[in-house]
Amino acid sequence: MTPAFEKLQKHLKQLPGLGFRSSERIALHLLVEKPTQLPALVTALEEAARAVRRCDRCGNLAETEFCAVCADERRDPAIVCVVEHVPDLVAIERSGAFRGSYHVLHGKLSPIHGVGPDELNLASLRTRVAAGEVKELILALSNDVEGEATCHYLTEHLPDGRTLKISRIGFGLPSGGGVLYADSVTLKSALEGRRSFQ
Ligand SMILES: [Zn+2]
Repeated sequence: MTPAFEKLQKHLKQLPGLGFRSSERIALHLLVEKPTQLPALVTALEEAARAVRRCDRCGNLAETEFCAVCADERRDPAIVCVVEHVPDLVAIERSGAFRGSYHVLHGKLSPIHGVGPDELNLASLRTRVAAGEVKELILALSNDVEGEATCHYLTEHLPDGRTLKISRIGFGLPSGGGVLYADSVTLKSALEGRRSFQ
């Protein structure tokens, strides 16, 4: 193969879910089989890279200051579901079981991977809690040691963390993937069956 082809394949291989063979297949598809699709894809990537940013309030994807959920006045800003990543939020939204707002941490505490509190999107959550706009936090974090540690950290370190109503879902969800790999029915019952975490 050519150097430029190999460079493209190397970048594709770094994407989640793509191994050597699948990245090779996509590179061949784009460059050899369907080269006419390439300019539109390049334009879409450039536009998305320019336009998409994090919501100032919750960390979800946005193209303006606030994301679609934060900008929706029908959503309850006092009930905040805390998730690790944007796809977790998407999974909960798809279940249709939640009408509050979100906070995306963009990770979970993991000393072994060098992820401490400073690496998480915590500052705006502190601001939201300190402003008194939050009554209940629903922690939808993964059902593992790191998820557990993150839940404890939030309870201990948020302003009024001990008096705020904090509950956790995750019991009964698949371990490891957690929210992301649960179906809508399981997510709905996990949200309804959330347990106090204090
Ligand atoms: Zn938002």
